[in-house]
Amino acid sequence: MTRDKKRKRYVRAVAESAGDRYARTARLLAGVRPPGAFQLKELLAECVTRPRADIDWGISWGEAEEEFASPVFTSDVLGGPVPYQSVLKLAGLLSQEGPDARLRAERVVAREHAVVAGRARRFELGLNWGVAYELCGVSGCPRQPVGWIGTRCEKHLAACAPEGTVDLAEAWAFARNDQHRERRGDPAVLEGSPEADLLVRVAVAQGVYEQAASALLHGLFEDPEMIDEVYWDPDEAQKVRDSMDRERARLDAVAAAAVRRIREETGVCAACREPLPASGGVPGFPPDHCSRECVPAPPRPRGHRHAWSFPPR
Ligand SMILES: [Zn+2]
Ligand SMILES: [Zn+2]
Repeated sequence: MTRDKKRKRYVRAVAESAGDRYARTARLLAGVRPPGAFQLKELLAECVTRPRADIDWGISWGEAEEEFASPVFTSDVLGGPVPYQSVLKLAGLLSQEGPDARLRAERVVAREHAVVAGRARRFELGLNWGVAYELCGVSGCPRQPVGWIGTRCEKHLAACAPEGTVDLAEAWAFARNDQHRERRGDPAVLEGSPEADLLVRVAVAQGVYEQAASALLHGLFEDPEMIDEVYWDPDEAQKVRDSMDRERARLDAVAAAAVRRIREETGVCAACREPLPASGGVPGFPPDHCSRECVPAPPRPRGHRHAWSFPPR
């Protein structure tokens, strides 16, 4: 394949994954090196053996330069200057995978940043500044993953199996309740948390809000039918019930806002293109569809673990 053909194929692949037009993508990728595969240890070997490169960044920081400019070496793997610190931070993020980790440069913008991807995880490296941090594991996605759950951003979590979301809501809520019991606190401290909000938004997008909400409330507080048996003191039982009611109302509001946002963003049904209803509560199917009938049948489970990395099974 000629260089030109290879480049066009690369631009087309990036355009498709980003849902953008070819011409626009080609302009954005001007000067960007097409991706290549390498092992972490190749980049590490360069990092520990290569001398510091003297780079003219085109700006003068004067005396502050020594203090602020990240020392760089010239890397063949990433095709240009790379800060030592970026590589060492990447190695830290990949410590579980070890030096044999296989990576591929998904995109390299010389002297700015590089995106490198492994099997399920992606990272951004500063090429002018010594930083490295994890990105959502879905190719082309610029967002950061929701750290406490796994390797995907909120939007791409919604593309995972909905059963995984309900399981996770339950596991997370029980774990939080356990912590609370150890501290013997007021049940009101279990109300309201960014984690519950996130789980609700993902569940709404997947059309499993009711299941996720009951899993959350049950896990956080108590099985509603068991409250009187678990709490002998009627005042305590009432406190739990009040907390549960307030949290249910709060979760309902978060869910309703999520439905509104999805419907405003999409406007028409993803299947039949009819306008989406402006009201009607939280549906038991993905809100970017007008009705259950329009939602395509889920693909047959393929037996692999869903993309949530927690809870481990
Ligand atoms: Zn993403
Ligand atoms: Zn429809």
